[in-house]
Amino acid sequence: PEEHRTQGSLTLGDVFIAVKTTKRFHQSRMELLLDTWITRAREQTYVFTDEEDDALKRRMGDHVVFTNCSTEHSHLALSCKMAAEFNAFLASGQSWFCHLDDDNYLNPQALLQLLSSYSPTRDVYLGKPSLNRPIRASETLSNNQTKSVHFWFATGGAGFCISHKLARKMVPWASGRNFLSTSELIRLPDDCTMGYIIECKVGGQLLPNALFHSHLENLQLIPTSRLTQQVTLSYGVFENKLNVIELSGPFSPQEDPSRFRSLHCHLYPDTSWCLQAAGW
Ligand code: UDP
Ligand code: MN
Repeated sequence: PEEHRTQGSLTLGDVFIAVKTTKRFHQSRMELLLDTWITRAREQTYVFTDEEDDALKRRMGDHVVFTNCSTEHSHLALSCKMAAEFNAFLASGQSWFCHLDDDNYLNPQALLQLLSSYSPTRDVYLGKPSLNRPIRASETLSNNQTKSVHFWFATGGAGFCISHKLARKMVPWASGRNFLSTSELIRLPDDCTMGYIIECKVGGQLLPNALFHSHLENLQLIPTSRLTQQVTLSYGVFENKLNVIELSGPFSPQEDPSRFRSLHCHLYPDTSWCLQAAGW
């Protein structure tokens, strides 16, 4: 709607981009992101991980944040990282918070174009709904009774963004140690907890957006001609098959299994290693 349009021009400097990773993916996933899209958003991208790593530190400098979160894949360990991301965003004072997983490709220009049609001074929560209906959960009340709640949430694996205004309202449930205790109340993962805080606690709502993608959807279905307009993409295994975007080159599937290097060359053909790629 028209009233959501901003007047001034939004720049990448207004966006705080948080990437969640873990020690065992530093090489296999983070190197790929550092070679591709992060080169185009270096100043505003921060990586949140669980173990010190000199190789990662050398490439990212003070843009890698070593949280003291456990390396487990438990709800609490993951919520601990989300809390660290959220707190770093609040401290940055920037207009937009965007969360990504380490198997996401982000197109910074597509992100800017999308965010510039909303105002960070309004409540905005943008992402891909995880389910086609609100999730039902049982909230633990202070008297140890439970209450049934339902809410929409953006799947963390597709990335999502939150405006500064909404983030400020979330502070009592999401800042400092509060995110962990809120996550305990519903015993669901970090991305669900975000949706719960936004929809059940502060009265916001998820704005579903079709430009965010996770590997839980069939990525082959995105038309090749539209790939460069998507805000996020992903890769992974889905129903026992490799689930990747459909892109013929310049790299072969053997050289570039995720297809992220090939996509990067379509977006930024002047990249040195794109010019050298086979057939270009
Ligand atoms: N992750 C993490 N700690 C773990 C396992 C995973 O921080 O112990 C992160 C991982 O780096 C990624 C996200 O959580 O950013 C999702 O992990 P993954 O893609 O392996 O699983 P999915 O939930 O997508 O199947
Ligand atoms: Mn994943």
